[in-house]
Amino acid sequence: MPHKVHVRQADRVIVVADGATILETALEAGIEYPFGCQSGNCGACKSRLLAGEVELQEYSEFALSDEERTQGLVLACRAMPQSDCKVAWLELDETVQHPLRQLACRVAELQQATHDIRIVRLAIEAGGPYTFSAGQYAAVAFPGQPPRDYSMANRPEEALLEFHVRAMQGGKVSHFVNRELKVGDRVTLEGPMGLAYWRETHGGPILAVAGGSGLAPIKSIVETALARGALQPIHLYFGVREERDVYGEAGFRALAERHRNLRVNVVLSEAKGPTKRRTGPLHEAVAQDFPTLDGCKLYLAGPPVMVDAAAKLAERLGARKEDIHADPFYSAHELVAKGAAG
Ligand SMILES: Cc1cc2nc3c(=O)[nH]c(=O)nc-3n(C[C@H](O)[C@H](O)[C@H](O)COP(=O)(O)OP(=O)(O)OC[C@H]3O[C@@H](n4cnc5c(N)ncnc54)[C@H](O)[C@@H]3O)c2cc1C
Repeated sequence: MPHKVHVRQADRVIVVADGATILETALEAGIEYPFGCQSGNCGACKSRLLAGEVELQEYSEFALSDEERTQGLVLACRAMPQSDCKVAWLELDETVQHPLRQLACRVAELQQATHDIRIVRLAIEAGGPYTFSAGQYAAVAFPGQPPRDYSMANRPEEALLEFHVRAMQGGKVSHFVNRELKVGDRVTLEGPMGLAYWRETHGGPILAVAGGSGLAPIKSIVETALARGALQPIHLYFGVREERDVYGEAGFRALAERHRNLRVNVVLSEAKGPTKRRTGPLHEAVAQDFPTLDGCKLYLAGPPVMVDAAAKLAERLGARKEDIHADPFYSAHELVAKGAAG
């Protein structure tokens, strides 16, 4: 008897005939299901059985261990449904390997984005080529200053490296950058670093959530995904305190005109006076819009408190832990304190 199988990443239901496998039926239906040997030996089509029952034809222990089987994993090329099922192939979380570089750069452009955020664009003079994945960061040393972590805001293909630096109250380096840095100054940089980078093979909806200068890595992720042809819904949530903290909006609105899959939400947490914008904590705006985040990828960047609240909400709404990629902007002092505590 044929059974219906819902394939999560494709969000499609296929009908698998008696004696047929999930993989062969999915491929015939034009779904880009990952696969390799098609004989149960390589494990490339390893999938999570989310609901229903399957019978597995013979396969090798190398492709699927007994432990994995008891955890609900199956091989799509060997799986014959015995009831209606739901499956999701495993995302092989592409581990990015970019060589760590020490770059000598020069400040090429400076732009005041808000009263306390300065955009710095650096031209690489030596030490390249510099490759990175959208969402990563670097340790940047401005003239006479100790190095601090700042996230690349540009797309990896672009020549100038872009950083958004918010002047933090009592902050040494961020104040220097906002008040004293000049075009032509020399800057050294070590990178790339960080794991909260854009996962290119994920086909589900993307929630890109930024607080303040957390927009930097989020901008890189959103622009890169769209430039590389991502077609899934991309929801940008940009949270700031009040109107004067909003920046970069025109660029995202223009991008949304060209890419109908991009939705831009700006949320003010401490609006002064009447406003047409959404107000309240950023994670609550997300909760209002999404009853479930099952199958979504989330990229979160900005103040640790905001990132933490958004990550907890995401888990509560059904996002898988491995689909939450967070970059809390801890200061050097907080990192030392956390290290000591840990
Ligand atoms: C992965 C990552 C990416 C980041 N990306 C960005 C980015 O793209 N843009 C951005 O603006 N920021 C980013 N940050 C934050 C950035 O690295 C800096 O922490 C920030 O700019 C502040 O640096 P500072 O030198 O100005 O502040 P610091 O001088 O380090 O001070 C930071 C805070 O700690 C307090 N402080 C300092 N010393 C002490 C002490 N001994 N005891 C108690 N309090 C103290 C200060 O008053 C201040 O409030 C990122 C951080 C991380 C970890």
